[in-house]
Amino acid sequence: MTNSTEFRQSVRDWLEANCPAAMRTPPPDGGIVWAGSKLCFDSVEQQQWFERMRDQGWFAPDWPARFGGGGLDGTQTRILEEELSRLKCRAPMINLGVWMIGPVLLESGSAEQQAQHLPGMARGEVAWCQGFSEPGAGSDLAGLKCRAERDGDEYVLNGSKIWTSYADRCDWMYALVRTDSAAGKHAGISMLLIDMASPGVSVTPIDLISGKSHFCQVFFDNVRVPVANRVGAEGEGWALARALLGHERRAMSKFGDNNVPGIDFLALARQLLPLSDAASRPLLADRVVRSAMDEHAYKLSTQRAHEAGRAGVDVSGLAACFKYLHSEHNRERHETLMALAGSEALGWEGEAFDNDMLKLARQWLNSYTYTIAGGTSEIQLNILARRVLGLPANGG
Ligand SMILES: Cc1cc2nc3c(=O)[nH]c(=O)nc-3n(C[C@H](O)[C@H](O)[C@H](O)COP(=O)(O)OP(=O)(O)OC[C@H]3O[C@@H](n4cnc5c(N)ncnc54)[C@H](O)[C@@H]3O)c2cc1C
Repeated sequence: MTNSTEFRQSVRDWLEANCPAAMRTPPPDGGIVWAGSKLCFDSVEQQQWFERMRDQGWFAPDWPARFGGGGLDGTQTRILEEELSRLKCRAPMINLGVWMIGPVLLESGSAEQQAQHLPGMARGEVAWCQGFSEPGAGSDLAGLKCRAERDGDEYVLNGSKIWTSYADRCDWMYALVRTDSAAGKHAGISMLLIDMASPGVSVTPIDLISGKSHFCQVFFDNVRVPVANRVGAEGEGWALARALLGHERRAMSKFGDNNVPGIDFLALARQLLPLSDAASRPLLADRVVRSAMDEHAYKLSTQRAHEAGRAGVDVSGLAACFKYLHSEHNRERHETLMALAGSEALGWEGEAFDNDMLKLARQWLNSYTYTIAGGTSEIQLNILARRVLGLPANGG
């Protein structure tokens, strides 16, 4: 038996013993645990699952144990992810800290920043939000204007961030700010860690046409941030942001693997196909099969990229590729289910709809958001064209 086989068996045994049966079912809408200082649980099982995974260090399985991580290598981390997925375990918590800023601090943070922030992220005790987008800077992120002016050992921050997910319940924000207006567009940007309880920070939730949303707009009015909270050197923010967006895209390309609230695509498709109009059934069946094959091919491709990475091949450019494929496949799967369900899927709420059908319309709409968040599909294609394929910009 190889070490990997033994490790897989030990993970399987541990998960069988420690993941409560109720945590092996898709969570209801809103039934996920958000890391942070305002932790709350829907059930005893949800709390047990959170605490057991936390104590294993498996919120951040590949981080060093001294920062509260699991100390696993890349192969072991992948085995853990596969076993969590195989058992259909729910994600024990959602935490942008672990997915995004944590890896950047591990690579580029000061020893003080690592000691202050990583253990709280790895234990799910501190919630982080991302302050990148601004009213005039989304895809063109380097056009950001939020200004940080140096005043002794502090920066004084003025401006606004928008589309900041869950800012109203987060403890800290990692943000891109302009520290030098005279430098070039990319050169004048720095990354700051901002305590959301600082005087001058205000958060306004944004309502959308579909109702309440998790988006917020955050305003900074002469907010004082210690220079010690700057990650990397002044002006290094753009390089750090690129690294962070790579981590974000990698994390997003795994969405759906671990039972985030979702629909069992094949189970629902099997249920709906016999009910569909006989004339269009062959075409719909073809779409279902294509979607299932795309998903399978996607899993094999990520596995191949993982093996290539282990063999020393640079696979960093593939993060954009996987983010693009995963979010577009996910959208297509929901489109297929909507086509299968026809007018039955148009219900929004009410007792007439069973659970999955009720979720469908919302999740179909939601599937589009993944093609925007973390950089739109068009931007991923631009990145692929330039950085992976080496094509010239603007066709020139
Ligand atoms: C669910 C969700 C969560 C989010 N959470 C956060 C968050 O926590 N923090 C945060 O900072 N931001 C967040 N965002 C914002 C997100 O990063 C931006 O919406 C995204 O980068 C696009 O920017 P924009 O909305 O300004 O659109 P725009 O940049 O105005 O784009 C509009 C359209 O033009 C296209 N386009 C723009 N430029 C090009 C180009 N060069 N080539 C081809 N097409 C182009 C885009 O693809 C898009 O279709 C979130 C967004 C979503 C949907």
